[in-house]
Amino acid sequence: HAYPDGVAFLDGQYLPMSQAKISVLDWGFLHSDATYDTVHVWDGRFFRLDLHLDRFFGGLEKLRMTIPFDRAGVAEILHNCVALSGHRAAYVEMLCTRGASPTFSRDPRQAINRFMAFAVPFGSVANAEQLRSGLKVAISDKVRIPPVSIDPSIKNYHWLDLVRGLYDAYDRGADTALILDFNGNVAEGPGFNVFCVKDDKLSTPAVGVLPGITRRTVFDLCGEAGLSAFAADVGVAALKTADEVFITSTAGGVMPVTTIDGAPIADGKVGPITERLMALYWKRHDDPAWSSAVRYP
Ligand code: PMP
Repeated sequence: HAYPDGVAFLDGQYLPMSQAKISVLDWGFLHSDATYDTVHVWDGRFFRLDLHLDRFFGGLEKLRMTIPFDRAGVAEILHNCVALSGHRAAYVEMLCTRGASPTFSRDPRQAINRFMAFAVPFGSVANAEQLRSGLKVAISDKVRIPPVSIDPSIKNYHWLDLVRGLYDAYDRGADTALILDFNGNVAEGPGFNVFCVKDDKLSTPAVGVLPGITRRTVFDLCGEAGLSAFAADVGVAALKTADEVFITSTAGGVMPVTTIDGAPIADGKVGPITERLMALYWKRHDDPAWSSAVRYP
């Protein structure tokens, strides 16, 4: 079995990815009872690590999980995983599962929570060609798990709707999918939030989505650049008749969408505001206020 080249932290040890294994009795597998966060390292620097740690510790608290590390401890483990991997562009994940109970008890309080982390090479939702000419997106008929069931601010592995949406998209010749919420408004996609631009104003779904850190970064960049951006319901018709559409994720940043359900967005070219935000996003990776250098050996 092949594994990506990387380093994991598990049970107090740093291991190659091929050796980082956990029990099949872990509730992370059996019940999807886990939370996680992903942060990226670009050019040897973490990007907005503090925000990712905030979101991760928020999820732990809401799920009543405890780990034997504080924020500084987790930050150090993430640094070590990246430093030991040697990757200067890395995708870094921290996760905690409910764990397994020694007696296979049904009581989650009996399970021993398990913290893990790993660093693997950076990966993007969009490849180089898709970044240049835009992604083709299909709107899936699967409905995103409603926020009254699973609080989307707890970053979670409840992805069956998203993965089934991806297969719908592939069947229809698209690169990726967008999933609607229970009211038929646009929610999010497999690993990303979505924005549309109309008359120079940006909007992104307000509820029922993960509060993405790249989404937050777009709001911050818009604030600095004097662009108006707000969170509101985004209907399918509004999306299809937008001037520009883009998606946002730690896995790739700001990424253009130029086709939805086979029809071009506006003239089918990557729009100027999208291009501007893509440039601003990558430029800010040098800013010491938003990035911290990995201490490589
Ligand atoms: N929505 C979902 C369901 C996600 O899993 C992710 C990221 N993995 C996002 C949105 C984007 O969040 P971020 O910008 O913090 O990566």
